[in-house]
Amino acid sequence: DLAPVKRALLSVSDKTGLVDLGKALVGHGVELLSTGGTAKALRDAGLEVRDVAEVTGFPEMMDGRVKTLHPVVHGGLLALRDNDDHVASMTEHDIGGIDLVVVNLYPFEETVAKGAAYDEVIENIDIGGPAMIRSAAKNHGFVNVIVDTEDYAPFVEELAANSGQTTYALRQRLAQTAYARTAAYDTAVSTWMAAAVGGTPRRRSFGGTLAQTLRYGENPHQQAAFYTDGLGAPGLATATQHQGKELSYNNINDTDAAFALISEFAPADGPACAIIKHANPCGVATGATLAQAYSRAFDCDRTSAFGGIIALNQPLDGETAEAISGIFTEVVIAPGADDDARAVFAAKKNLRLLTTTGLADPAAASLAVRQVAGGWLVQDRDVGRITADDLKVVTKKQPTDQEMSDLLFAWTVAKHVKSNAIIYVKDGATVGVGAGQMSRVDSTRIAARKAQDMADVMGLPAPLTQGSVVASDAFFPFADGLITAAEAGATALIQPGGSMRDDDVIAAADEAGLAMVFTGMRHFRH
Ligand code: 5GP
Repeated sequence: DLAPVKRALLSVSDKTGLVDLGKALVGHGVELLSTGGTAKALRDAGLEVRDVAEVTGFPEMMDGRVKTLHPVVHGGLLALRDNDDHVASMTEHDIGGIDLVVVNLYPFEETVAKGAAYDEVIENIDIGGPAMIRSAAKNHGFVNVIVDTEDYAPFVEELAANSGQTTYALRQRLAQTAYARTAAYDTAVSTWMAAAVGGTPRRRSFGGTLAQTLRYGENPHQQAAFYTDGLGAPGLATATQHQGKELSYNNINDTDAAFALISEFAPADGPACAIIKHANPCGVATGATLAQAYSRAFDCDRTSAFGGIIALNQPLDGETAEAISGIFTEVVIAPGADDDARAVFAAKKNLRLLTTTGLADPAAASLAVRQVAGGWLVQDRDVGRITADDLKVVTKKQPTDQEMSDLLFAWTVAKHVKSNAIIYVKDGATVGVGAGQMSRVDSTRIAARKAQDMADVMGLPAPLTQGSVVASDAFFPFADGLITAAEAGATALIQPGGSMRDDDVIAAADEAGLAMVFTGMRHFRH
């Protein structure tokens, strides 16, 4: 199953590693064909190259839209070398075999990512490149196709090991990679166009590139891997890991949740910290300093914070790193870390420190995809946000300014808590989180009970829910949840409203002397 590599066609936008590859190929006696910019780069390095235009007898034309789309190229790629008819056609039409295609495509994803205008994006849709990739990949019985610079070195090693030939196993693996590349490329194009067209597209595809093979999935008996979309958004896909073991599947999932939550808090509004366990926050707080924000977040639920994931909205400093080092933490993610912080963490070998290229844009539109049996559910990511102006006070009592600020904070956190979500907040810090319960009143009770537990641990005379405000991610269907919150010491509530029994719930709030505001927006998260 060995096949010789005698002629190669190189046509790459990203010229990384090109010259070394060209030299290695020439070293194995391979003849090089190439397109404009690629041929120039090879020639500048002193390599002998034939222009594709000379082979096809057609110049590159129409701003490069037509360069390699020619039967001489595609015949040379697609001809079955062991088929007499194919070989006869090659002879008849003077088509030379092409045994290797090295193509990386016009940088479509990067062009979209940098916010280019529509026409520029259109010009960056590569046509001839994917065509050659697909031809070569189809004919992997004889032909090699390389689409990733990472594959240059292993390919050259294979040539060296097999006296200028390649194995079927390699060609098949390269072909599989190649089809995933063209699929992901067209996914990027159609996803970008779907946004421009609007509405619900009849066809959708999803694509990605392996970023990391994971040791296992959610459980050790599940295989797993992390694929990235190449669009370069700040977050896990583009973060730098400075120390600690490889991230696990659960780490990535939790860190993503932590980072999405903390990205709601603009650095200019002051330091903020979120501690996440199992994709739910067990403490979120603002503070005068980052260290204070951490310690206030920690005080919400010191027990659950153990082994948690911490996200910060400002670069990690030494003082905060010191405070975090007090207990075992799995991951810290922040938009930077100073030298003091790095020095403090150096002693903590098991702690993973990730720095990002900034915070995520909490308003950026993107898709959330979930698999169901036989298909995918797709929705806009929840980028709903409200301000004080959107709120409707429904009780006799108006919230105070402090309560209003805490209500908005609690509402922001609620968006990132699994439903049914109930969040108690005091002075810009969560003091009780009830997450993921099947009944809303249970979430209300659990959060209050945990606050009582913390008061016992910390030796406080009363739980921090005394004088707190409460957010509910969806309406209270009955007054019971609200009454529980009032019993725990809440003085104000924020919720969407819209229940059949809103009147009962409002009456109960008035009776308990609470202030309540309706958002008119819900934040289910399942
Ligand atoms: P170069 O830098 O060599 O001038 O261009 C290389 C790029 O052109 C590669 O990204 C390759 O995929 C692309 N390409 C090769 N042939 C064609 C073609 O016929 N049409 C278009 N639109 N792109 C091509």
